[in-house]
Amino acid sequence: MMQIFIPLNFLGFVYREMKGALANIEKMFSLLRVKPAVADQSEASDLQVQEGRIEFDAVRFGYKDNREILRQVSFSVLPCQKVAIVGASGAGKSTLFKLLFRFYDVSDGSIRIDGQDIRTVSQESLRRAIGVVPQDAVLFNQSIKENVRYGRVDATDEEVMAAIHHAHLSDFVRQLPQGVDTLVGERGLKLSGGEKQRVAIARALLKKPPIMIFDEATSSLDSRSERSIVASLKEIAREQTTLVIAHRLSTIVDADKILVMDQGQIVEQGSHSQLLEEGGHYATLWRMQQQERTAGMGEETPVAS
Ligand code: ATP
Repeated sequence: MMQIFIPLNFLGFVYREMKGALANIEKMFSLLRVKPAVADQSEASDLQVQEGRIEFDAVRFGYKDNREILRQVSFSVLPCQKVAIVGASGAGKSTLFKLLFRFYDVSDGSIRIDGQDIRTVSQESLRRAIGVVPQDAVLFNQSIKENVRYGRVDATDEEVMAAIHHAHLSDFVRQLPQGVDTLVGERGLKLSGGEKQRVAIARALLKKPPIMIFDEATSSLDSRSERSIVASLKEIAREQTTLVIAHRLSTIVDADKILVMDQGQIVEQGSHSQLLEEGGHYATLWRMQQQERTAGMGEETPVAS
């Protein structure tokens, strides 16, 4: 019996190890799964980012020919501005990001970064210039410190610690049994949505690309986590042009500009106070989320979930 038990037990161990490894590989592939439908032009030059100004000029786009997803979208983001995009699920917010990353080419119009049409630059240089904080960051079965270091693998320990500090993770890390050396991920400590997103912010702060896109987690956050994310977003936006898909309007009241999207179009744009004054779609959403807060639910219903 023992003879059978040991190999089975061992096999179970190997299986669990493999399953863990496969889960990570699967996640890696799902991250890379979006196959670029575009190719570099033969004379593509490297993107030169001097300031980080982004312009969407009359952009039209559809994944398939018969269905237009973005219709005549125009907006600009000035260097080091923070621009938030809000709108119902399916409005086209993520599609804007995919086009900026040039996973697809626009059907009409253009996207420019510091005056350069992104179709004319190498994809490698374009993606190097843009950092992404995804909704659900992938954590590897390593320490917090090493997980943050993925932002820039040659970063020194001091730089990693500074990024952890600026991502408002220090207090959280201090409470962990081995501090920054605590193992996280599937076989380590499970982090909440907000904590994971702050690890992603720390990675992004370490990478420090001139343009940052931030996809706010739709998962519910306690108000402390939310405050930390807002504060760390401020750190990012201080020196980088930042585009945020926001689900909780309270996290973007300080944005330089808010774009309200509906069915592939920008239907309103302006600062928080301008949009409230306009009394349109945004003002209605704001009132709804505020009512939920004061009703004691503590958490806002995300605009898009
Ligand atoms: P959410 O807040 O739910 O993420 P969103 O505003 O980001 O929504 P998008 O993901 O940009 O919306 O999707 C806009 C539209 O494009 C949706 O109707 C969606 O079904 C469609 N769409 C998104 N990705 C693809 C794809 N790869 N192929 C075909 N259609 C797609």
